[in-house]
This record gives sequence, C-alpha cells and structure tokens, in this order.
Amino acid sequence: MQDVVIAGAGPNGLMLACELALAGIRPLVLERLPEPTEENRANGLVGQVVCLLDRRGLHDRLAGPIGPPAPAFVFGGMRLDLTLPEHNSLHILGVPQRQVAAITPRPSPR
Ligand SMILES: Cc1cc2nc3c(=O)[nH]c(=O)nc-3n(C[C@H](O)[C@H](O)[C@H](O)COP(=O)(O)OP(=O)(O)OC[C@H]3O[C@@H](n4cnc5c(N)ncnc54)[C@H](O)[C@@H]3O)c2cc1C
Repeated sequence: MQDVVIAGAGPNGLMLACELALAGIRPLVLERLPEPTEENRANGLVGQVVCLLDRRGLHDRLAGPIGPPAPAFVFGGMRLDLTLPEHNSLHILGVPQRQVAAITPRPSPR
C-alpha cells in the first residue's frame, strides 16, 4: 500500500520520493521512460536545493564538501553582488543534471 503517487522520476520526483520516505510516507514513483534520459539538460544547481543535497550527504558524493555561499551570480545578463544582503544562502553546484539524477537513490522497478 502506497501513500503518495509521484508522476515522473526526474530529479524533483526522485528527491521528493526520498524525502517522503525519510518522513515515513510510502511513495510510488511512476516513470514513463524505460531508462534515464540521455538528453543533456541543466549544467548545475543554484539555491536551496544545493543545501538540501548537502543535508542528505549527496553534495559530498557529487563534489566534495559544500563551500561558502557564492559572492555573486549572473542572471539575465546582470551581475548580482551577493555580498550586499545581510543573509546570503545562494550556493552553486556546477554538476550536470544527469550526474545528479544518477546518484539519487532509486526504488527497484516493479
Ligand atoms: C534542453 C534543456 C536544457 C536545460 N538547461 C537548464 C540549465 O542550464 N539550468 C537549469 O537550471 N535548468 C535547465 N533545464 C531545466 C531542468 O532540466 C529542469 O528544471 C529539470 O529537469 C526539472 O526536473 P523535474 O524532475 O521537475 O522534471 P524532468 O527532469 O522533466 O522529469 C520529469 C519526468 O517525468 C516523466 N513524466 C512526464 N510525464 C509523465 C507521466 N504522465 N507519467 C509518468 N512519467 C512522466 C518524464 O519522462 C521525466 O522523466 C533544462 C531543460 C532542458 C529540457
């Protein structure tokens, strides 16, 4: 018996399934593709998701220990100086999406 059905085993679906399982909720992940896609997608992760990966020990496995927040970020051609805000939690992890999805624990296919 499952508590939650998640459509899609992309990085969000897989991470959500892992977080639910850690909270004692039983997820069922349904994926329409027979195997992980070879499509080249995101080249990195930015923001709180990097801290989430670190909390679960996945940052270490992908790129070693997490470093300090990024002092700057370029968005839409504009350089944002992140030393100005009092709190800056913007972390950047330059690892391709395929690599992130590959280390996310997967339940056995049925
Ligand atoms: C070409 C390309 C380049 C990109 N470049 C960047 C980038 O440089 N930086 C960046 O941050 N982001 C980038 N992105 C966006 C990033 O890839 C997405 O934000 C990320 O994939 C979202 O993850 P997800 O798990 O939500 O969805 P997805 O990775 O899309 O996973 C969804 C999964 O659900 C499955 N699915 C869909 N419908 C169903 C269904 N009805 N039943 C069962 N399974 C289903 C799909 O097969 C897929 O496996 C790019 C995306 C593309 C396509």
